[in-house]
Amino acid sequence: MSRPKRAPGDVVMMHVDDLAPFVNLDGPVMLADRTGVYVHSFKCLACRLEFQLFSWLDDRHTASNVTCPECGKAGGLKLHWIATLNESSDFGFGGAREIFQLNPRPGSILVEEEPDAGPPAWESQRLP
Ligand SMILES: [Zn+2]
Repeated sequence: MSRPKRAPGDVVMMHVDDLAPFVNLDGPVMLADRTGVYVHSFKCLACRLEFQLFSWLDDRHTASNVTCPECGKAGGLKLHWIATLNESSDFGFGGAREIFQLNPRPGSILVEEEPDAGPPAWESQRLP
């Protein structure tokens, strides 16, 4: 992927081929399905983990269909909030917020992990 070029007026110019990493081309939610950009915030009432999901749909993720990444509980034992970040059904690089601008959080570093490497070392120290 080539780096975006800055033009006068802070407009980002990109070749259409460079958009692929930012647009979901083969997932269950396609650009044609998009109604906007939303963040679903959850708090699991079983283990108290708080986590967020970014989505192009306001009704795809619910407390009933999301599984807690910490304790694995599925179902409605969660608090669920939703915020609309972008009301456009069109993906863009203008001033409106897009998921790629929000995730990963600025300052994050990519953690390189082996697929199927098993539980992290700290998990073996967990009490039964
Ligand atoms: Zn949980």
